[in-house]
Parts: sequence; structure tokens; C-alpha cells
Amino acid sequence: MCQTHTQTIQASVLHGVKDLRLEPRSLDAPASGEVQVAVRATGLCGSDLHYYGHYRNGDIIVKEPLSLGHESSGEVVAVGSDVSSLSVGDRVALEVGQPCGKCARCEEGRYNICPEMRFRSSAKSFPHAQGTLQDRINHPAAWCHKLPVDMPLPLSALLEPLSVAIQAARRAGFSSSAIPSKVLVLGAGAVGLLVAGMCKVSGVENVVIADVDANRVNFATSKKFADVAYVVPMGPRPTTTEEALESAKATAKAVGALMFADGSAVGEVDIVFECTGVPSCVQAAIYATRAGGKVMLIGMGTPVQTLPLSAAALREVDICGVFRYANTYAEGIKILSETKPETGPDFASLVTHEFKGLAAVDDAFAMASRKEDDDGKLVIKVLVTN
Ligand SMILES: [Zn+2]
Ligand SMILES: [Zn+2]
Repeated sequence: MCQTHTQTIQASVLHGVKDLRLEPRSLDAPASGEVQVAVRATGLCGSDLHYYGHYRNGDIIVKEPLSLGHESSGEVVAVGSDVSSLSVGDRVALEVGQPCGKCARCEEGRYNICPEMRFRSSAKSFPHAQGTLQDRINHPAAWCHKLPVDMPLPLSALLEPLSVAIQAARRAGFSSSAIPSKVLVLGAGAVGLLVAGMCKVSGVENVVIADVDANRVNFATSKKFADVAYVVPMGPRPTTTEEALESAKATAKAVGALMFADGSAVGEVDIVFECTGVPSCVQAAIYATRAGGKVMLIGMGTPVQTLPLSAAALREVDICGVFRYANTYAEGIKILSETKPETGPDFASLVTHEFKGLAAVDDAFAMASRKEDDDGKLVIKVLVTN
């Protein structure tokens, strides 16, 4: 089906700090190679929350009104010319980053670190690539991933953050012939839980998860994302580097002293997935890793940090960055369709709150910034459905 007219759609647009407006936008018919997607579900991410609360994300400043949202799925409602892979009515997950496709990084398949990347809802490129909190968007068919008909759309909105977990596992060296036996995940928010879940579905026998929030780590073990949980005690803030490093060592030691179900001690782990970006956690990650192991940096936190580098270098502990993902959606779709909540991990349980309609985006952000709702229920992933 071809659509040749321009229509008016509604978009949620951020104009300043917490200044979200529902506005009409005109949307052309999909161009050649594009499809038009009615966005049905969008998960809110930490970066969206930063833009919403500060009109910037770290040192990236918003320069023009910006629609947020990038964890999305929807339904194809129109197809441009030259598109044969998708038809009207197909349900798709949107991969919202569009790399240049020509540079050396793109050529080697690492398009996630393409310097020319245009990523919806990020203010890094200008004009900004507008996010998915809109009724409809036109998007290249090549970056729309067809979903199995029986996959619930709220679940499919997890494919984007799950992709980060898949990328982290690949960067950590997971393969069918090499799966670590012990890992530690620091941070039990949505990303940490997805990383822990990715470790479980990859066959890691022992997944330890740590967070300052007892509810979150209990959730992680009860929903089968992790085997052992540790609640990091909130002590007084260290005043010197020495104190900070001593406290990080103590955290690593406390994790090492935990017991697995078979009665053996956790000890040092093969890989730590650091999902907080907090300096004390990155420090503890280095101390908790065995010689020859890896620390994966997933959390976006304090940009300049003091770290015990010699504790890494002298034991050949690799410190590896993880940024977004490349070629992960097919694997993500397989994981979400094949994993049963009874055997775990229960991925669907991560979607804790849903808000209906773009007019509810403000309420959705208010909820996403909380740890628990009014009923004491944990807030993990907040969705806007439309
Ligand atoms: Zn995100
Ligand atoms: Zn490129």
C-alpha cells in the first residue's frame, strides 16, 4: 500500500526543563525505503529522564524542541516504494540509531560507534533525530525488525535495552564455547536486570547481583534474573581517596564471602558488569574481578573518576566499554520469544507501569523518576502505550 499525502499527527515534544507539550506535527508519506509506523509502546530510559529533567544529558545540550523515546515498537501503517520486507499490519521493533554506513567503523560492523550516528531522542546530532513519543514516524524499513505475531508489544519494547545487554555479553567474550561460570552485576535497575537475565539465558551458572536497594535485588532473585543477591550498605561518604578505595575493597570482599546454593563461596568473579557508573562501584568492580577477568562498563555515570588502575593492570583485568549495540535485534527477539517466565528470567515482569496515550507522558516521567509507586510496588520500566 502506498500513501501519498501528508497528514497531521500528535507528538510529545520537550521545549525545556519538564516542559513537555503535545503538539501537532505534519508527517509526509514514507519515502522510498521507509515505512510509516504507528508507535504503540515506548519504554522510558535514563537518558530520556535526564533530558526531561535538565534539557540536557551530561554535556549534550538540547538545541531545539525534541521528542523523547527510543525503546519502541509499533505497527506498520504505510509502506514506501522499494520496500518488500514489510507490509501494512506487520508489528515491528524500531532500531532507532541510523549510522552513516560508510565509515571504517560501519564497514567493520561496529556501527554503534559510528561518529556520524543519528540516534532518535538524542540531542547529539543536529538537527536532532526526533524520538518515538509521537503517534507515527517514518523510519527506514531496514531498521525495523519484524516481530513474531504472538509477542506482546509491551514486551517487545524491552528489545532496545536488552540489546545493550546482548552487546555487553558479546564484548565480554560470551560465545557458545566460552561462557563464564561466575559473574557479578552491579546495579539492579532495568539495565542491570537485563544484563543479569542475558547472563542467565546465555548459560552462566552463577549470577550475583548487587544494589543499594533491597527491593530491587530481591526482585532480581525472585524473578530468576540472578542467583545470589547482595545489598550494598550505605555507609558514611568517604572523605579521602584512601577511604573510598578501602570501602570499595570491603564491598568486593563482602560479595566474595557470599555463598552459592551449593555452599561454595562466591570468591572473585570472571566478569563484572558495572551498570551504575558510580565511582565506588567501578572501584569495587575492579577489586571483585579475578586475575585475567573483565570489567564491563555499561553504566553512564561520573565522567571523570579515580580508579585503582594498578589493581587491574597488574592482574590483567581488562576494562571494556560498552556503548549501545550493533546487530542485536534478531538475537533479542529470539531470547524474548523463547524464554519462559516459569524457568526464568521473567523478562515481562520488568515492565512495571504502563501509561496510556501521549498526554500521559508527564505522568509517565514522574513515575519513572521514582523507586516505588504509591502502593509500594517497585518501578523498573515505565511504558507509554498509544
Ligand atoms: Zn536508552
Ligand atoms: Zn559510520
